[in-house]
Amino acid sequence: MLVVMDKNATREMVEKICHEIEKAGLKAHPMPGALRTAIGVTGNKQQIDADHILALGGVKEIIHVTKPFKLVSREFYPEDSVIDVNGIAVGGKNLVTMAGPCAVESRDQCMIIAERVAKSGARIFRGGAYKPRTSPYSFQGLEEEGLKILAEVRDKFGLAIVTEAIDTEVLDLVSEYADIIQIGARNMQNYSLLKKAGRQSKPVLLKRGMAATLEEFLMAAEYVMNEGNHNIILCERGVRTFADHTRNTLDLSSVPYVKRTSHLPIIVDPSHGTGIVHKVLPLSRAAIAVGADGLLIEVHHDPANALSDGPQSLTPDNFDGLMKEIRAIGSVLGRTCE
Ligand code: PEP
Ligand code: MN
Repeated sequence: MLVVMDKNATREMVEKICHEIEKAGLKAHPMPGALRTAIGVTGNKQQIDADHILALGGVKEIIHVTKPFKLVSREFYPEDSVIDVNGIAVGGKNLVTMAGPCAVESRDQCMIIAERVAKSGARIFRGGAYKPRTSPYSFQGLEEEGLKILAEVRDKFGLAIVTEAIDTEVLDLVSEYADIIQIGARNMQNYSLLKKAGRQSKPVLLKRGMAATLEEFLMAAEYVMNEGNHNIILCERGVRTFADHTRNTLDLSSVPYVKRTSHLPIIVDPSHGTGIVHKVLPLSRAAIAVGADGLLIEVHHDPANALSDGPQSLTPDNFDGLMKEIRAIGSVLGRTCE
């Protein structure tokens, strides 16, 4: 249920209604908008009596939300959510690119790549300090030492940092260092991780599970938001299909669906979405054309010797070319790259 307040409703009126909702054993989520405040009501108890809420004053209307996801739905919040990451806008008119290696391998590696991607216009640096690898014998990441390197990258180049928390055990530490907490495809339905990410204040980059429907994807975001963290960036990274010409099948049709159904920004990861370097540029173009709010791109200065995902990593030169094309396509669509 969504309680839409009158545009002249006072803060006290909003508080009173939140109080009544909580008194009924439900959760109230006040969401201030440009014109008026709406209060989302969630919980697994019976519906609250709408007439009682209407009678409290200051309420314009009560909407019964039909979708299984509530807080993430456009019905709850009709505007585009814009997530502020250290002054960088993710969503709205702005296109944002997150770029960097799959894994943090060393200080030198990160400095070389960060300098180049920053020059090309990336605003957010990616790199895993904890890596969810298919094989336990593959490189698992530098852990806290990797997080420290990422913090140095932020200090030196002014890039914001996105890095993955692979489980609840490392989440607090990752949250201390990162500007955005990544929850990976393999963890999209790790409900204790989602809930814990929802109880801390850093924005969350939630990647689509490799066999997740869009309803499941948005329900995962709902878990985070229901704990109080509304700063969620969705990421389409492809799903498993029978196709063997590509690592995953990058489902770009998810972008217009999510844009229509949810207010959250969605970016596209054509690196994991294709797994093959020569497909990254064409699918990046397509992602922006289809309405994505940005890209997540793996970049490595020496892809042949990368400790993970070399075959899908762009060189810094190729990334520079990609950024030029993205800006050009974005400007046709009225998007800025700030
Ligand atoms: C990653 O972005 O480093 C990653 C592991 O991606 P995904 O969770 O989409 O496989
Ligand atoms: Mn990777």
